[in-house]
Amino acid sequence: MTGNGSGAVRTDQARVIPPGSTVGILGGGQLGRMMALAGSAMGYRFVALDPAEDGPCAQVADSIAAGYDDREAARELASRADVITYEFENVDAGVAAMLAEQSYVPQGSELLYTTQHRLREKRAIEAAGARVAPYEEISSEAVLREACGRLGLPAVLKTATGGYDGKGQWVIRSEAEIPAAYAELSRSGAELVLEQFVSFRMELSVIAARSSLGEVKTFPAAENIHIDNILHLSVVPARVPAAVLEEAERLAVRIAEGLEVVGLIAVELFLTEEGELFVNELAPRPHNSGHYTMEACRTSQFEQHVRAVCGLPLGDAGLMSPVVMVNVLGQHVEPLVSHLSRFDGEAARLGAVPKLHLYGKAEAKPNRKMGHVNVLAPDTAAALEWIRGTGVWS
Ligand code: AMP
Repeated sequence: MTGNGSGAVRTDQARVIPPGSTVGILGGGQLGRMMALAGSAMGYRFVALDPAEDGPCAQVADSIAAGYDDREAARELASRADVITYEFENVDAGVAAMLAEQSYVPQGSELLYTTQHRLREKRAIEAAGARVAPYEEISSEAVLREACGRLGLPAVLKTATGGYDGKGQWVIRSEAEIPAAYAELSRSGAELVLEQFVSFRMELSVIAARSSLGEVKTFPAAENIHIDNILHLSVVPARVPAAVLEEAERLAVRIAEGLEVVGLIAVELFLTEEGELFVNELAPRPHNSGHYTMEACRTSQFEQHVRAVCGLPLGDAGLMSPVVMVNVLGQHVEPLVSHLSRFDGEAARLGAVPKLHLYGKAEAKPNRKMGHVNVLAPDTAAALEWIRGTGVWS
């Protein structure tokens, strides 16, 4: 998507896009909104393409309301922007190619192509020198049965494309489940992959940034706790030995460099009881598990992303305070908002500073990501105690 190929821009061809320029974002959800808020503070202008008229990003930036596969709208986005980025990975390949021809897309489309498909992604992770859980490509029920024999049960059957937040997955616990798991997941027509079940001690993630000029920095690793496959908490620093964190950050750098990332790459990892790290998946964009950076790091992931794609020097990604990020889902909004007046007293007792972020979504549907709270505190135990004490998430 650089105008002369599908890979990321070569460092010797990277442009500096100075503040005052316009950044076009494909997608207008909360990630685009927070990117626009961070970049606006640095003097950039933003225009987002999204089907929603009044989505999270449209409330804080210019917007074009149209489908992601609308060529005419994409052309308009290209004509109004000096540089184009995206805030979700399922960008239509044809639109991506067209944007690359008509505008400057330093991230390229190759990384999207890789991370849109679990098998391609796993091969790229391995080629970069990081490990993934043993896996096999599944083309039929018979192949699935054999693969279950080789990898052992339980094992996780996943669609290679289109899954998120645990959708498009089936944990096969016994041979009796094989036909139903295959029937259910093959229905979408997507290719399938079977992964060995990792009985992990903890899930971690590291967000790395690589600028169009080739500079790389990582944010501190986050310990992630999910409920029903949806991220609930990110605890930073993660409660593991420093050597594990350093190894996780080293792996993220290797992946950012190996995949020639421009912008951000979120690397999700499993830490096993034996202390091994397996990469679970990648996201080539700002990530929910990096929201803690907004107040807790010297540079937020959103500012870092803008710096990376605009060819500015990357900011210091160091941690300023222990922090716990807790997601605000649809069911949490009402109790949280009615708790607001009581935020301060309890927080003061614990030395905690809860920072509220809401994304401006109109409808608070159950399990919909509506916002998050970053709780800065003297230590993560105090932040977790504040979260528990609110009763909002129990
Ligand atoms: P994913 O969509 O691949 O991020 O998977 C969603 C969640 O399912 C992960 O955060 C894990 O909690 C769980 N999971 C996915 N793959 C595996 C695996 N191979 N072994 C154990 N748990 C897994």
